[in-house]
Amino acid sequence: MSSAPTRWWGYHKKHRWVVLDRDWPGNAHGRDGVLTLVRCSDWGLFEESYDTWRKSSDYQYAPPYIDTRNTDRARKLARTRLLYLEQEYERRRDALLQQLVHLRHESFLRKARKEMLPAPPLRRATRAHRTANCWRCSRELDNTVDFECCRCGWIVCWNCGACGCGFGYSGYLRAFEKD
Ligand SMILES: [Zn+2]
Ligand SMILES: [Zn+2]
Repeated sequence: MSSAPTRWWGYHKKHRWVVLDRDWPGNAHGRDGVLTLVRCSDWGLFEESYDTWRKSSDYQYAPPYIDTRNTDRARKLARTRLLYLEQEYERRRDALLQQLVHLRHESFLRKARKEMLPAPPLRRATRAHRTANCWRCSRELDNTVDFECCRCGWIVCWNCGACGCGFGYSGYLRAFEKD
């Protein structure tokens, strides 16, 4: 396999080619038992329970999936397709990560400040380098890596989606968001 070892490539009955990137926030251990995967057909994100991903026969790891194609030609096509998708994924990875943080930001605002939906866009740092700890889950944030909220200017937490718009909100913090 040519892709980074932290990527799990597979084929899903309905979604078709998918990738689980274990370097994504939350994917190494599963956020509350939930993983975020990328569907290559439309480069969309979807969530899946860790148990379903591990146990369901709907998911097949790429190498055995390719091996079970009927003909040499079909196997070759599948291999070529996968190689293309692996490269395409690496090219799109930053934009997909931004999409992921946007979804978590939105989900945070839905809990904390419903009137602020839809979530304001994310932006790259406009100020000098700064680091911080998320006020809600304590994760380390860095504005050279993480995005800022266009409305409050705070760094948006890649883990729990919090920004300054909902500062002080003390809603239920799921276990996975704490460490
Ligand atoms: Zn956080
Ligand atoms: Zn904000």
